Amino acid sequence: MTAAASHDLPPVEYVRLIDEAARLDGVIAIHSTARGPAAGGCRLWSYPDAETMLADAARLAEGMSYKNAMAELPFGGGKSVLRRPHGAFDRRILFEAFGREVEKLGGRYVTAEDVGTGVEDMEFAAMHTSHVAGRTARPGFAGGDPSPWTALGVFEAMKASALFAYGSSLSGMTIAVQGLGSVGAELCHMLDGAGARLVVADIVTERAAGVADKLGATVAAVEEIAGVDAQVFAPCALGGALDDAALAALKAKVVCGAANNQLAAPHIAGRLLEMDVTYAPDYVVNAGGIINVSAEYLHEDENQVRARVMRIGPRTADILEQARDLHLPSSQVANRIAEQLMTQPVDAAD
Ligand code: NAD
Repeated sequence: MTAAASHDLPPVEYVRLIDEAARLDGVIAIHSTARGPAAGGCRLWSYPDAETMLADAARLAEGMSYKNAMAELPFGGGKSVLRRPHGAFDRRILFEAFGREVEKLGGRYVTAEDVGTGVEDMEFAAMHTSHVAGRTARPGFAGGDPSPWTALGVFEAMKASALFAYGSSLSGMTIAVQGLGSVGAELCHMLDGAGARLVVADIVTERAAGVADKLGATVAAVEEIAGVDAQVFAPCALGGALDDAALAALKAKVVCGAANNQLAAPHIAGRLLEMDVTYAPDYVVNAGGIINVSAEYLHEDENQVRARVMRIGPRTADILEQARDLHLPSSQVANRIAEQLMTQPVDAAD
């Protein structure tokens, strides 16, 4: 059940999931449980071999430890990863089998949807376990689409970052938003409400045109958005937005957005520091979604979700101040704080 990780992988406990009849071949990786159950979604993906799947699970589980701890949630970090069966398969049978495996852990691991899985899959799993979130939204409970909460967290973090870097509010600033999906589009509405000017880009041109129509945003080319003349750059598309080419073009002195894994390589953190760019660490900023999903499991209501999300602004400011005082990359400071938090047990009421 437990496997020592190779030296370049984070240490996790692996629970292999195999049920041939259900075509279940996967793993639950548990990275930390000091704060509470290891929580993290269930990914369904085509992995070439079991080794690649285990490595992905370990890295994703570790990421969840950082994210959950930083959001001050009463959860550790874990992740489940299932190999997508070849050809046609019955999702109900697969996810019911998965639910039975989650139940066997007695609440040490809490699952939810992730890439390749959805609400219906979690409903199948929930037929056999209560340790599952990301289910159909029910009146009176938190849950449902996490994107507006993620956008609110990014907005609060951006206000704090702008105040830190420029000493002023977002009103009148130009914000370059890359990616206008569920989070990016919602964020644009909030920024517009705060009096910011928007420059936007999306590979789906109708999305950019839609935001331009509704909010009077200027549309930029996808390959130029990182380098437009703006005070803030908000990566809200895919990971790796901050690479050497983007940094060479970057004019904004603040980077704050929803995308996961924005730093394309480890050296980018140091480059941002050298360039005196205020970088709001991605997993600090985009925690609104996980806060909302967790609330469903914790039976918290919308006010409690809002209170947790509103802490993202002051938390971002604190990290940026510490990074300035210590002259360290903000991402490094955030990791140190999360590493400390992830060893600390918490009360579910915190
Ligand atoms: P989404 O899929 O709804 O939107 C992504 C948008 O980015 C799409 O409109 C897509 O066309 C666009 N896009 C893709 N590549 C692009 C490129 N190179 N340039 C410009 N636009 C591009 O996703 P989302 O839910 O809005 O999430 C956005 C990011 O935030 C993702 O990285 C996601 O992992 C992260 N995130 C989302 C949540 C959430 O609650 N949805 C929570 C935490 C983190």
